Amino acid sequence: MIAILKAGVSQAQVDNLIHWLESQGLKIHVSAGDYYTVLGLVGDTGKIDMDLLASLDIVQSVKRVSEPFKRCSRDFQPQDTVIEVGSAKIGGGNFCLIAGPCSVETHEQIIGVAKAVKAAGANVLRGGAFKPRTSPYDFQGLGKLGIEMLTEAKRETGLPIITEVMNINQLPLFDDVDIIQIGARNMQNFDLLKEVGKLHKPILLKRGLCGTMKEWLMSAEYIMSEGNEQVILCERGIRTYETYTRNTLDLSAVPMLKQLSHLPVVVDPSHATGKAKLVPPMALAAAAAGADGLMIEVHNDPPHAWCDGAQSLTPEQFADVARRARAVREAAL
Ligand code: PEP
Ligand code: MN
Repeated sequence: MIAILKAGVSQAQVDNLIHWLESQGLKIHVSAGDYYTVLGLVGDTGKIDMDLLASLDIVQSVKRVSEPFKRCSRDFQPQDTVIEVGSAKIGGGNFCLIAGPCSVETHEQIIGVAKAVKAAGANVLRGGAFKPRTSPYDFQGLGKLGIEMLTEAKRETGLPIITEVMNINQLPLFDDVDIIQIGARNMQNFDLLKEVGKLHKPILLKRGLCGTMKEWLMSAEYIMSEGNEQVILCERGIRTYETYTRNTLDLSAVPMLKQLSHLPVVVDPSHATGKAKLVPPMALAAAAAGADGLMIEVHNDPPHAWCDGAQSLTPEQFADVARRARAVREAAL
């Protein structure tokens, strides 16, 4: 349920109402816009008398929210969430480019790629330290050492860093990480979602291989229900019957999610297609569809990458797509 308050109500009146609603056992999500305030009521709203609430002096209207997700819904917060990391902004009309290798390999590799993507206009550096691999015999990532190398690349370039956490035990290593990624395979690892929900830093939540948009938003809700409202959704393709592409990029998810939710939506055309040649056109298509940013895998030497070389762009290719994607985004706004 949401209660839209009248324009110009005093803070004391708002606090009074919140206090009363909380005393009914509800949790209240406050969204203070430029013109009016929306109170989102979470919990057993069945015992709230809608007519009574609507009749209060300071209340303009009351509406039931039928969707099971609340805190991430547009109804609860009409204005876009904007997430700030370093000098980067994600959401609310800002276009953010996240780039870097699939996995951190060596000191020279990550520093070199970091400098190159920064020069090409990237706002955030990516690099996997803990890698979810289909085969246990494949490279599993450098772990702690990988995070240390990423942190050094951040010091050298000033770029904020994003890397994936695979389980709760790894979280103490993530203090210097600016955005924590929850990978596709962990979209419904509810214990992990609850744990990152207790942190005070942005979480990039990838869509699960078979996740519907509703399930994905419910996963975002898990994080937000613990208090962490800084969630970025990342469309990375879903599993379909198609085999020429690694996954099927669902670009309709971008405008759909932006209608349903105030959270920023970024697109990862690298994991979605699995093929470097398909990354630029799908990156441009994502920008045209209204994505708040792109996450693109970039490697200094793709044929020799330890992971996902076939879908990695060279820094030169990334520079070209970065420039064109920004132009498309401008034109589409
Ligand atoms: C990644 O971004 O490194 C990754 C493993 O992606 P996904 O979880 O989307 O497969
Ligand atoms: Mn990868």
